[in-house]
Amino acid sequence: MSFDLYGQDSAAAVLKSHLRQGKTRHAYLFHGAPGTGRRTMALRLAMILNCQNPPAPDACCGACRMCRLIAKTEHPDLSVVAAETPGEILKIDAIRDLQRTLTLTPYEAKWRIAMILRFEEANPAAQNALLKTLEEPPERVKLFLTASAPNAVLPTILSRCEPIRLRPMRIGALIETLKQERNETGNAADAGVVERAAHLSGGRVGFAKQLTDDLERMEKYEADALDFLGLFTLNTREKFALAAGFRETRRRGELRALFQLWETVLRDLMISAAGASESGVPPSFIALKERIRAEASGKDPGYYRERLENLNQAVANLNANVSPQLTLENFLINL
Ligand SMILES: [Zn+2]
Repeated sequence: MSFDLYGQDSAAAVLKSHLRQGKTRHAYLFHGAPGTGRRTMALRLAMILNCQNPPAPDACCGACRMCRLIAKTEHPDLSVVAAETPGEILKIDAIRDLQRTLTLTPYEAKWRIAMILRFEEANPAAQNALLKTLEEPPERVKLFLTASAPNAVLPTILSRCEPIRLRPMRIGALIETLKQERNETGNAADAGVVERAAHLSGGRVGFAKQLTDDLERMEKYEADALDFLGLFTLNTREKFALAAGFRETRRRGELRALFQLWETVLRDLMISAAGASESGVPPSFIALKERIRAEASGKDPGYYRERLENLNQAVANLNANVSPQLTLENFLINL
């Protein structure tokens, strides 16, 4: 086994060349949209570095104790750190706990591996705390960070990591991959389901697989997208009432996820308003194509571009700790 992940040839080439030259870095930042395979790629590197029977310097056997336990993230020399739930904050205590672990000699692996997932969720104090470890890494330690983009982490962090970029697949290629994989496992999925999942994933293979396996979840996304279309006709009082539901700051992560979904819907509306065939960009919600076409008919693409800009501002406000309720109110008022 090597880095045989769909459509990640350039990322794989960089890592393989480091391995073949025996020059792996002490820290990597795997960046790309969630679901593009950042964590899977990092885990595979951990397996290759620690495999007991490597068939080549840039591969692992996938069957030894090391490979099996690392793949399941159950090896004692592998630490995985992340905010409790996606969208929440990764705090300094978690980084300090990790640093204590990293000072220990590996129990049996060649390399002690620390994976810190979605590092953009680490608050500045936590990011700065990790900086010390990146500047003076303990012996026999490798650090693998994941993030949505290189500029989502502090520049001082980025400058001490080797960035590895993961890209979404083209939708057509992803559909073929999913169908082929389904056929091989004798688990043939409805072609329509595969296509809906591929489009909705925006080419992120991990996410597309989850959706293909979890029809209910895909239908929930589609229902939430429909709900969003309904927001355009709310009156001011209804908008304030909706925002009031997000009074509690712990709903921040939930709102962030909702904003991501709304962005996808707004893009579909913009594509539709521009004339789908002209733009060449594949839509996300193919199950709602007619509904979106009806909504966008007669509208200017600029109308939706402006709302996308407002949404980006709302996300920035949320990240800058403005309350979820106020953030949502501002966005809805300008919708
Ligand atoms: Zn192995």
